[in-house]
Amino acid sequence: MKGMRMQRQPDMAAPVEALGQIASEGFAQGLIWTSAVSDKSNYVAKGSQDAEEKALHAAITQASEHTVEMISDASGDAADILEFQLAMLEDDTFEVSSHEKMATGALANTAWTTTLDDEIAGYLASDDEYFRARSTDLIDVKDRVLDALLGVKAEAIPDGAILLADDLAPSAFLSHDWLGGGIILKYGSATGHVAMLARQRGVPAVVGVKNFDVLRGTPVLLNAATGQIVANPDQATRQAFETAKEVFETQQDLAKAFAVKPGQTRDGTPIAIMVNIADPAETETIPIEHVDGVGLMRSEFLFGNSYGLPSENLQLAAYAKVLKWAGDKPVTIRTIDAGGDKPIAGLTVEEDNPFLGLRGIRLSLANPDIFAVQIRALLRAAVLGNLKVMLPMVAVPDELDSAIELFEREAEKLAEQGIAHAMPEIGIMVEVPSVAITPERFARAAFFSIGSNDLTQYVLAVSRDNGSLSYLARADNPAVLQLIGNVACYGREHGQAVSLCGDAASDPALVGALLGAGVETLSVAAARIGMIKAAIAEIDLA
Ligand code: PEP
Ligand code: MG
Repeated sequence: MKGMRMQRQPDMAAPVEALGQIASEGFAQGLIWTSAVSDKSNYVAKGSQDAEEKALHAAITQASEHTVEMISDASGDAADILEFQLAMLEDDTFEVSSHEKMATGALANTAWTTTLDDEIAGYLASDDEYFRARSTDLIDVKDRVLDALLGVKAEAIPDGAILLADDLAPSAFLSHDWLGGGIILKYGSATGHVAMLARQRGVPAVVGVKNFDVLRGTPVLLNAATGQIVANPDQATRQAFETAKEVFETQQDLAKAFAVKPGQTRDGTPIAIMVNIADPAETETIPIEHVDGVGLMRSEFLFGNSYGLPSENLQLAAYAKVLKWAGDKPVTIRTIDAGGDKPIAGLTVEEDNPFLGLRGIRLSLANPDIFAVQIRALLRAAVLGNLKVMLPMVAVPDELDSAIELFEREAEKLAEQGIAHAMPEIGIMVEVPSVAITPERFARAAFFSIGSNDLTQYVLAVSRDNGSLSYLARADNPAVLQLIGNVACYGREHGQAVSLCGDAASDPALVGALLGAGVETLSVAAARIGMIKAAIAEIDLA
C-alpha cells in the first residue's frame, strides 16, 4: 500500500512543460537525473607553494592519463574531441598561469579554477558559435583536473535516465552508454560537440531549455523530434507522446528500408544521392551501397581539430581512407573552406563582417604556401580513386583560373620529384549569387555544386548563424529557386554536372522544390539518406 502511494505521487504533481532546440532527434521517457553538485571547495591545503605546484602537476598528469585511456576506446569525432582536450592538458600555458597565482598565495584548486574560468569566459563571450561550443571542452578539462586534485569520483548516471544539466562535457557524454535515456541541457548548443556526438549515437537530446527546474526522480517525456519536454505528464500527454513516437519510429523504419534502394521519383526519374561528410571516420558507419558517392567532404574539419595545420601526409591519409571506402564511386573533396562561421587558429583573420570577408577560396589564394600543401595531398590522392576537387566561395572566374594554375604548378613539381599523382576534375561550389546568375562565365569548371546554405544567406541578406532570422533563410524562396533553376538548366544544356549539397538537400520538405527546379543530384547528411530517398519516391516529375 505504501509502495503504491509512493508510485502515484509523481503522477499527481502538476505537469511542467518546456520547449528546447533539437540537438538530436528521438524519443525518450524516464526519470530525471541531475548530478549532485560536488563540493570543489573541499580542498586540503598542501602547506607550501612548492607542494601546491606539485599537487597541481600530479593532477594534470592524472587527468592527461585518464584522457589517453578514453582516446584508446574512442574513434572518429569522439577521438578528435578528446585529442583536442589532451592537447590543452599537455600545453603548459594553464599550469604556468596557475603558478603565477600560487606565487601570490592562491591554493592549487583556486589557482587552476580562476585560470580556466578566465579562459572559459573568453570563449563564452565570443560572437562565434564555434568558440562558444568549444567552451564545453575547457569546462571538461577544468573539472577533470579538479576531480584529480580532490580525489573525487564522478557519480554514474543510472541506465535509462534522462539527464538534466546546465551543460555536459564531451567526456562525460562518452563515459555513459545512454541506452534508452536522453539529454536535456539548459545551455549547450545544437552545433556543439555533445549534440554532434548525440546525433551520431542516436541519443535524443534537446538544448537551450532555460526554464525547466525539476527535481531528480521526476518522470519526464522527452520528444526530441519537436523539442517538447513534459515533466509529470498526465495520461492524455502520455498517450499523445506514444502516438508521436510510433509515427517517428515508422518514419525511421521506412527510411531504413529506402536507404538500400536507388534514389528514384514516383515516375521513375533517377536521382543520384551522394553523402556529405566531414571526418573520414564517418565512412565507417555509412554502407557505400546506400550512396552514389561523396558529394561534399568538408576538408576544413581536418584543419580544426588539432593545433597547427595538417601535414601533406596526414591529409593524404585522410583522403585515401575515403577514396578506398568509395571504390570507383566519386569522392568530391572541397578545398579548405575556413573563415565565416569556421575560424581556424593561425589561418583565418578577425573581421567585422566575416561572411563577406576572407573565406573559402579567397583565403586559400591569399595563403598559397598553406594551399599548396593541400593541393599536393589532393594530387597524390587522385591516383587512389575517383577524386573530384571542389573550390568553395568562388565569386569570379579569375579565382578558378588561379586555383587551376596552382594545381598545375604543384603537379609539375611532383612530376619532377617522381611522386605519383594525377590531375582530378576541378569544379566549383555555387554559393555566391554572381556564379548562379552567370554560370556561363565559369565554363572552365568541371562541375557545379550548389551550396544552398550560403546561396540563401547571400540572396536574402540573412546571416546563416542568426537563429532568430531563420524564418527568412529559406532555400525555397522563389528568388533562390530561380537561381538554382538557372544553374541546373545551364548545366543540362552545356554538359556540366550540377548537384546540390547544402542543407536543403537533407530536408524532405524542400526536396520537391529542388527537383522541380531541375536538380538531379543531391548530397545529403548521412542520417538523412533513407528519409530523402523516401521523400523522392513520393515526387512525380512527369
Ligand atoms: C553551403 O553553403 O550550402 C555549403 C554546402 O557549404 P557550407 O555549409 O560548408 O558553407
Ligand atoms: Mg558554403
